[in-house]
Amino acid sequence: MDGIVLYTPGHNLVTDSLIMHGIVRYLTWADVNIDSVKIRRLGERFIIEIGKSNSIKEDKAKQVLASLQDQAARGILSGGDYTYLTRFFEKIDATNLNRPAFKEWIRQFSQAITKFYFETVRIYADHNHKEEGAEGYGRAGYPTLYLPLGPVYGKYNQSNYSAREVPYKVCYTCFLFANLGLVYGSGVVRIHSNYNNADMRAILIMYTLIPPAETSMSDVVLVQRTLENNHEVYDLEKAGANTALVPSIVEKLANMLSDTMYTFRMNALVWALTWWPTYKVVTVREFDKPDPSLILKNLYLIYMS
Ligand SMILES: [Zn+2]
Repeated sequence: MDGIVLYTPGHNLVTDSLIMHGIVRYLTWADVNIDSVKIRRLGERFIIEIGKSNSIKEDKAKQVLASLQDQAARGILSGGDYTYLTRFFEKIDATNLNRPAFKEWIRQFSQAITKFYFETVRIYADHNHKEEGAEGYGRAGYPTLYLPLGPVYGKYNQSNYSAREVPYKVCYTCFLFANLGLVYGSGVVRIHSNYNNADMRAILIMYTLIPPAETSMSDVVLVQRTLENNHEVYDLEKAGANTALVPSIVEKLANMLSDTMYTFRMNALVWALTWWPTYKVVTVREFDKPDPSLILKNLYLIYMS
């Protein structure tokens, strides 16, 4: 038997969903025997059961990571004011409302790839991965889990859902896979005005699909095909007096989500952040019925907040 079982670390449902999607994409790059892989839900965590783990060629997957690192170096980290964003980094940029943090985010992503050359995805065979690395609030020397990668908020200010002051930290491997999941396994809608100004206002709605119980890896791969190109950025000034814009964006999203849920028999996980004058976590919600009117009602609440 050459099967292995991987566990997402148990940071929170959003981050674990992204890490699950990130692992699935990485395994695809590594030419895993897809039919031998099952994804199971374990509360807020996921189990990835790989029947034929001998089929995994991590060298191939790491070549893809190397090309992403190269894109980061040339387009973003090389100094200069000129930033060239490839599709991959365009998507991360679309999810980031905190403009000054972007370069550091990408620098840490690139560093995570460097460190991962000496690692393996089998690091997640350890059920206690998070505890053993002491990942969490205030851990020094690890990258920050930026809010779009997991809107974590703590006991100090739950009443207003502000982001907690002490940053939540994850290890470089978790950071890497959460970013892969963000790009390949989630969709993004951002609506903003006064972009890049001190009084920028923005709403960020992010979503992914996750199995309620058990699913095949091939279904998760198909879900990614429908989500990976979904990032839409709307500038309200450019929209001018088109007051129907936001309601139509929100309605389209509600319909798309419920159609995809129905097709794949998966749940939708939606998390939303706003920016004005800083981050606020508005909602983290899992939908288990493909009901467009229920989703629409909730998306409107995000828009109104
Ligand atoms: Zn970790």
